[in-house]
Amino acid sequence: MNIVLFGPPGAGKGTQSALLVDRKQMKHISTGDLFREAMKNQTPLGVKAKSFVDAGKLVPDEIVIGMVAEVFKNLKGQSFILDGFPRTVPQADELEKMMSGMNLNIGKAVFLEVPRETLMRRLTGRRVCNSCGAVYHVDSKPTRQEGICDVCGGQVVQRKDDHQDVIGTRLEAYDKSTSPLKQYFASKGLLSEVNGLGATEEVYGRLASQIA
Ligand code: AMP
Repeated sequence: MNIVLFGPPGAGKGTQSALLVDRKQMKHISTGDLFREAMKNQTPLGVKAKSFVDAGKLVPDEIVIGMVAEVFKNLKGQSFILDGFPRTVPQADELEKMMSGMNLNIGKAVFLEVPRETLMRRLTGRRVCNSCGAVYHVDSKPTRQEGICDVCGGQVVQRKDDHQDVIGTRLEAYDKSTSPLKQYFASKGLLSEVNGLGATEEVYGRLASQIA
């Protein structure tokens, strides 16, 4: 089953996607990761996206849609998780068109629900490895050695857009542009709401039972 995983920044989409990839052999398509990779490599796409991503603003729809269309060209029949896409209603409409053109469909759109104060705590304390992308948290999942990734030995840093001043902009973008997707997917009979609070494995159990 192909799924869309959506929710506010800090809801745990990336963490849960990593488990699904590992345990259900699904392909992970994260538009945020694709932008960060493009920015790191300073590709034309990365250069275009950088000012938006760093400011916590949504990258314009046509840029995101073009990028996802490229990824879809290389799908090899594997079920996938869309993490962070769509993030606006026009993106969702475009996704539907792209999928039907390829004879594919979305089986579920899972909304990860987390209260605002928890999101703030998760986002301000989040740290990521700038080599392999492993995710840590200063309180709940610190690295064994300060600033060094447990997995690959890379440097563990704070994402620019996880700085306190940018988080507010990201949450506003979510409220304005992404939260209407709940209604959008509900109207198509695809919405599934999952409580994103609690330990990673607890949340995974709830999520997995929705997409079994
Ligand atoms: P994420 O890692 O999903 O939190 O995404 C990080 C940033 O990438 C977002 O704050 C946006 O600037 C950009 N981004 C990722 N996905 C999208 C999307 N579907 N539409 C617009 N901007 C996006």
